[in-house]
Amino acid sequence: MPKIPGIVFVAAGIAIAWFSRYVDARTENQGMILFFYAGIVLIAIGVFKIITKMIMKDQEKPEKETNISEEEKKIRETIEKRRIIMCGMCGTRHYATSNYCHMCGTKLK
Ligand SMILES: [Zn+2]
Repeated sequence: MPKIPGIVFVAAGIAIAWFSRYVDARTENQGMILFFYAGIVLIAIGVFKIITKMIMKDQEKPEKETNISEEEKKIRETIEKRRIIMCGMCGTRHYATSNYCHMCGTKLK
């Protein structure tokens, strides 16, 4: 039941409602009126499903994206901290977070 897309409900509802109206018009009685209402209910369910799916999608996407970027941020920060750079003047190794060489004072960034 939940895997049937809303558009199928709408299409089936329209078909049932239209068919019941068509039969009633031809037979000149209201024998199919229940089917007409059933069709309307199906259309309503279909529209409801489509709307809820759209709302769910809108709520899910930004959350996932922020989670990924947050994790990526942490990973990038860790990599940046562990990265080793060399002083251009004296060749001393430093962590990338250092701004100046500890040996000769040359600006590293
Ligand atoms: Zn240096």
